[in-house]
Amino acid sequence: EAKFNIDKIRQDFPILQRKVNGQNLVYFDNAATSQTPKQVIDCIIDYYENYNANIHRGVHSLSQEATDAYEQARIKIQKHFNAKQAHEIILTSGTTHAINLVAHAYGSMLTKGDEVLVSALEHHSNIVPWQMMCEKNGAHLKVIPMLENGQLDMEYFHQSLSTKTKMVFVNHVSNALGTINPIQEIINAAHQVNARVLVDGAQAAPHIQADVQALDVDFYTVSAHKMCGPTGVGMLYAKEELLEQMPPYQGGGEMIAEVSFEKTTYAGLPHKFEAGTPNIAGGIAFGAALDYMHEIGFKSIEAYENELLIYATHLIQEIDGIVIYGPEPESKTAVLSFNVEGLHAYDLGTILDQMGIALRTGHHCAQPIMEYYKIPGTARASFSFYNTKKEINIFIDALKKAISMLT
Ligand code: PMP
Repeated sequence: EAKFNIDKIRQDFPILQRKVNGQNLVYFDNAATSQTPKQVIDCIIDYYENYNANIHRGVHSLSQEATDAYEQARIKIQKHFNAKQAHEIILTSGTTHAINLVAHAYGSMLTKGDEVLVSALEHHSNIVPWQMMCEKNGAHLKVIPMLENGQLDMEYFHQSLSTKTKMVFVNHVSNALGTINPIQEIINAAHQVNARVLVDGAQAAPHIQADVQALDVDFYTVSAHKMCGPTGVGMLYAKEELLEQMPPYQGGGEMIAEVSFEKTTYAGLPHKFEAGTPNIAGGIAFGAALDYMHEIGFKSIEAYENELLIYATHLIQEIDGIVIYGPEPESKTAVLSFNVEGLHAYDLGTILDQMGIALRTGHHCAQPIMEYYKIPGTARASFSFYNTKKEINIFIDALKKAISMLT
């Protein structure tokens, strides 16, 4: 693995040079979306300048080049997540699309009396599609509760599993708190009762390289935009046998074998689940983003981000009235979700923005977590491998200033 060179890394991200409200940008909203390195931006430009064409249909050279690049990206994604086969990678518009695909297609095979288990730590995109599914097929949605420390109640989880359980949905990492969930334990236990597990990897993917075969996970979803790629593209990994069983989710071009008004037959995998012209440049750039991150190395990224998290946690704890939500740094990714007693997170966020610091405030699309803590929201600083301790110092000073302005 190459040596971790933060100065060189920062030069790859043009946006880190800009000013916001007259101040140097300190970008701590990485859990919402990551910034994009020049290598990935260049890949998108190269596509549109040199080989923009529709894929999988044309005999002409540009179409072939675009198809090759797109399929090459699928193989990069397959290798990264260690899927057995490239056609187990379905390219989607992102995690939300991937989860909806499973909720519709796999969900159509569930019936009344079946139970599905969802964790209390989920993003709305891993709650609402299942609620919609249950309304349709009559399955019963049960919640795995959370504990005060921001972890799942695993005792409750194990007790809730039964032969009625057909599916379990859990994120690998919580976006609101950073909690790393014990997905291996969840997958193993669910398989004991023949339930399938969908792991929402949106928040884990930028920090942890998941091995879908080692995990034996049934479905795994990610969004490219959280891992240095563009918006509007992501993937669903699913085991071949499941994809074969599932009916298509959307109908249209590219997903068919033959169409007539009497009967339509569907294309093989992965095309059966990829109706319509996809985000071609996005898919190719997703592959470039993975190349970029591998160049730095996931182990180095994880170690450096942990260092930032521990550093920031120590400094912020010194401030009077700070409440941090979620587990200790060793049990989470680089997310610092906090409040200051007596202050509204929104007001803090607004003042920090004036000082050039971007963080997220609110419920983080995880209202059940906020309800658990009986708070309207938190302020969330989330770090990436291109952030620095110097930026954390700037953030801590700015936070102290904001607090004194507001009290
Ligand atoms: N799940 C988690 C854990 C997330 O953090 C996010 C993005 N905030 C999503 C799902 C949804 O991802 P997207 O909006 O890219 O579809």
